[in-house]
Amino acid sequence: MLAVQIKAEQEIAPLISSKKLFIFECLGCRDVYYPVEEAEQFIAGLKEGVVGKASLDYLCHREFTHEYIKAYASEIEKAQVILVFSCGVGAQVVSSLLEDKIVYTCCDTLYLNGFQGLTVQEFDCDQCGECYLNYTGGLCPIARCSKHLLNGPCGGSQDGKCEVDPDIPCVWQQIVDRLAKLGQLDTLERLGTAKNWNVSPVS
Ligand code: SF4
Ligand code: SF4
Repeated sequence: MLAVQIKAEQEIAPLISSKKLFIFECLGCRDVYYPVEEAEQFIAGLKEGVVGKASLDYLCHREFTHEYIKAYASEIEKAQVILVFSCGVGAQVVSSLLEDKIVYTCCDTLYLNGFQGLTVQEFDCDQCGECYLNYTGGLCPIARCSKHLLNGPCGGSQDGKCEVDPDIPCVWQQIVDRLAKLGQLDTLERLGTAKNWNVSPVS
């Protein structure tokens, strides 16, 4: 099991102020606890900023989500920011499919004991608690950096490949490249605050 927890409004509000928003909401699978009512209250509070919303199951399924993106293309085109309500996998899938958009997650993903589910997914989430995707362009530094760095790159990457495992890309190089492409490199300046590891299984 894993549990999704809605982030505090004060964490999200500065990121989306005066922005046009498109929302992806994953209604989950049976192995994920998703707080539907709390999410709906949060979304209702966004009011006029929302230009469209898609609610679906299995946002982690890349082909499935790709079809939804095509179906909502005109609303997504109008949006300046994409907000995702899902576990960390779903948020990464949306981010990877909408490379020219700023994608923020509104959720933290927490580990719970028990069966972790079987889903078709390309990206991993270590269910670390306080999700860091909003600092890193939607790419997970916990699951995808060999050293789990929160302040990479470590300086050891060669030609965009990881120093520890040259068979994988250096995710911190990808994070910097993506933020630069979006004109969001100043996001990295927000990385100064300490991560809350208390809710993580690896704390
Ligand atoms: S930072 Fe990575 S491991 Fe942590 S919740 Fe987000 S996607 Fe999952
Ligand atoms: S090379 Fe990149 S992915 Fe590998 S450990 Fe260093 S920062 Fe992490």
